[in-house]
Amino acid sequence: MITGESKERERVPRLRLRVTATAESVLRSGHPWLFADSVREQNRAGEAGELAVIYDRKDRFLGAGLFDPDSPIRVRLLHVGKPRAIDRTWWSERLTRALEARQGLFDEHTTGFRWINGESDGWPGLVLDRYDQTLVLKLYTAAWLPRLEEIAGLITERLGPERIVLRLSRNIQEYAKRQFGKADGVILSGPPLDGPVTFLETGLRFEADVLRGQKTGFFLDQRENRRQVEALARGREVLNAFSFSGGFSLYAVRGGARSVTDLDLSAHALAGAKRNFALNATNASAASCRHEMVQADAFEWLKQQPGHRFNLVILDPPSLAKREVERPGAIRAYGGLASSGIEHLAPGGILVACSCSAHVTAEEFFAAVRKSAAEAGRKFEELRTTCHAPDHPATFKEAEYLKAIYLRV
Ligand code: SAH
Repeated sequence: MITGESKERERVPRLRLRVTATAESVLRSGHPWLFADSVREQNRAGEAGELAVIYDRKDRFLGAGLFDPDSPIRVRLLHVGKPRAIDRTWWSERLTRALEARQGLFDEHTTGFRWINGESDGWPGLVLDRYDQTLVLKLYTAAWLPRLEEIAGLITERLGPERIVLRLSRNIQEYAKRQFGKADGVILSGPPLDGPVTFLETGLRFEADVLRGQKTGFFLDQRENRRQVEALARGREVLNAFSFSGGFSLYAVRGGARSVTDLDLSAHALAGAKRNFALNATNASAASCRHEMVQADAFEWLKQQPGHRFNLVILDPPSLAKREVERPGAIRAYGGLASSGIEHLAPGGILVACSCSAHVTAEEFFAAVRKSAAEAGRKFEELRTTCHAPDHPATFKEAEYLKAIYLRV
């Protein structure tokens, strides 16, 4: 049984799938995705959001999940094992699990973080971020749309936010509008909003463009790396390449950097950085730190500018491999970018190179950066590598996208 389905739906037979032997073992081992080409049999056509029940070769119940006829990920598994009712109690328990996993991670100085991180929290294709009193619910599959009200209701009951904003990944925006009258950036509950919301991250103030910004408005996933940068920044001239709204820069300022340079292609991102600096102008270190902004293509700028000027260079480009076929090119690009970054490091300087491409593994990325360091003909010490923040858990390979490596010359 699943809640939120219409009376008519109850009269049609349950959507039943049989899958390939390989898919059976993959799903049994806990992987949350059933791909379309692994479906051997389907009793009827299904609609986005229906609960699909998967049976094994011996006709035993294997699992159940959210069906999406328009996605190559045909079913996102909710449950594997013994049959279970997927009802309000079940959703409520799932929510409890996600909330409990964040208990004790943040104090009142951090009011922006992730409550639910999709599959890895048992909510496939759904993200819930908190920005102070505003929650942003972002959907990556149309399968959630039929039960949006139920889920939003549950969230309201448990977290009591001032408002909930709905964000939709680009591929489902048209469908959501047509079938459910829901547009990207619509307010699901609470008062209207006509600009960004501000929130705290480890005591620093930031704004998040929750209505239109990338992801849910801010790169919450980089908080732990930003803290590391703060700890490394004292006395340094810092280049924050692909700066977005200056997240790393403000940590560097608080950490005692002598100067920070935000470098981004987007004027909009740099305008956000400027406002974020203004929000933190009273920070004790802000007065003694020079802030510069450069609007340019970072790949080009890094190649053209004369080097050896900075003591800390942060490289956090957007995903360079959106698809698997782009993987080899992305690995080369990460290597090239690291080489350019290293060119800008003064003796004793630190490189922080990040990758958010899920198609490039941590080992591939680290190897590419290490190779660039070796080829630079300077002696490097590897300080550390990092991966996912605790509020952004990754429980399967495809969910592991974020990695960073710290090198000191
Ligand atoms: N480090 C940031 C997040 C970076 S997101 C943070 O902690 O918040 C990636 C950023 O790269 C975006 O702001 C985007 O505008 C910028 N970008 C994309 N292509 C770029 C390019 N070729 N040159 C410079 N910036 C670019």
